[in-house]
Amino acid sequence: PKIIVAIDGYSSCGKSTTAKLVAKQLNYPYIDTGAMYRAVTLYFIQNHVSLTNPKETETALDNIHITFRRQSEAGRNDTYLNGTNVEDEIRKMYVSEKVSDVSALAEVRHALVAQQQRMGRTKGIVMDGRDIGTVVFPQAELKIFMNADPLIRAQRRQLELLEKGEVIGLEEISENLKMRDYIDTHRTESPLRQATDAIYLDNSLLTLDEQVEMVVRMADE
Ligand code: C5P
Repeated sequence: PKIIVAIDGYSSCGKSTTAKLVAKQLNYPYIDTGAMYRAVTLYFIQNHVSLTNPKETETALDNIHITFRRQSEAGRNDTYLNGTNVEDEIRKMYVSEKVSDVSALAEVRHALVAQQQRMGRTKGIVMDGRDIGTVVFPQAELKIFMNADPLIRAQRRQLELLEKGEVIGLEEISENLKMRDYIDTHRTESPLRQATDAIYLDNSLLTLDEQVEMVVRMADE
């Protein structure tokens, strides 16, 4: 039977990379909820939306449509904001700097959680984020809470940005990860928590293949 696989954890601990490959092996769709929060953040930046005016936020949210589209290039499933491919833009540092503040807003979370729950209505899905096992799909059959050593996370993130042409120092990246983890775990609206029935997976010393295999095996059980 098809199941829901919920993968949560701190920033840049390899959730998306793992989740994408697990989904491929299980032949399930994969949803990167971080990309959705990033797309909302990009819209807010581009349209100078105030974070302190709930009415303005609500209106903005009504005008935001996020979709994912598979690309012809193998393995790519890009994020679209109102019909524009924003996959590269949402990963940039200026978006990372604002995304946790935007994600802390109750109106933003309500809108995105509702959309995520609709996406999971037909079973057989892998979703990663911060609140998938606790809020979006508390009934998920398999919940993983991922973590990795902070330095390893920063190095992975640096490499990812470098591949996209952004050269950022390790210090600045570490600071951004620390700040996002702090805001994500301390916000009042569904803070980042390990679900009581989630399996804790520290991947600092695992290869990508090893962790993908572990999760796929658990999904098959
Ligand atoms: O996963 P990623 O690092 O791209 O997520 C970016 C940010 O989006 C996180 O730091 C967090 O503030 C927010 N987020 C969230 N809930 C999710 C996924 C992401 O609050 N389910």
